Amino acid sequence: TLDAGAVAGVRRVKNVIRLARRVMESPHTLLIAQGAEIFADQVGIPLIDNNELKTPELIKQWQTYQTNPPPLPSAEYIPPHCDTVGCVAVDCHGNIAAGTSTGGMDFKPVGRVGDSPIIGAGVYADNLFGGASATGWGESITRVVLAKFAVDSLQGNRDPHPAARDAIEMLARRVGGTGGIILADRL
Ligand code: ASP
Repeated sequence: TLDAGAVAGVRRVKNVIRLARRVMESPHTLLIAQGAEIFADQVGIPLIDNNELKTPELIKQWQTYQTNPPPLPSAEYIPPHCDTVGCVAVDCHGNIAAGTSTGGMDFKPVGRVGDSPIIGAGVYADNLFGGASATGWGESITRVVLAKFAVDSLQGNRDPHPAARDAIEMLARRVGGTGGIILADRL
């Protein structure tokens, strides 16, 4: 139904998709950082200690990066610990939903937001055509608004397999980007 909700830059929310859903049900589409956490509190989503989200492996890796920073993401280099989770679902009534959740990219600067919470870039759903969830180098995905591009290209009852392939090829061709996409068409 083109309803959409997202959060970005949150540090104390364990299940961010639950919070994004509550944003979708609110008058807003995107809440960030402290404002998103205040909203979480208001709607009864528990805030956790940020330390609960840290793993020994990632702390160790971050310490290594302090002295030996990874190259910036590019067509040639994607950091090894992308952790995006994506889904697209179509129910028996033809309702389509998509979700994308991520910790972002390794060693990102504070305040960096990738494609995942940007509606149309990392996630998009439209009951008329389909739904999409993207992963990969977020800055490149945002530049081409990849998820909406892929969903729009389903118009005319196009098969989602070649449509998804074309979207990823377009990402590479237009901005030298790399990524992947889940794309589902309507019933
Ligand atoms: N797309 C995400 C970002 O750029 C990373 C990922 O897919 O894992 O933040």
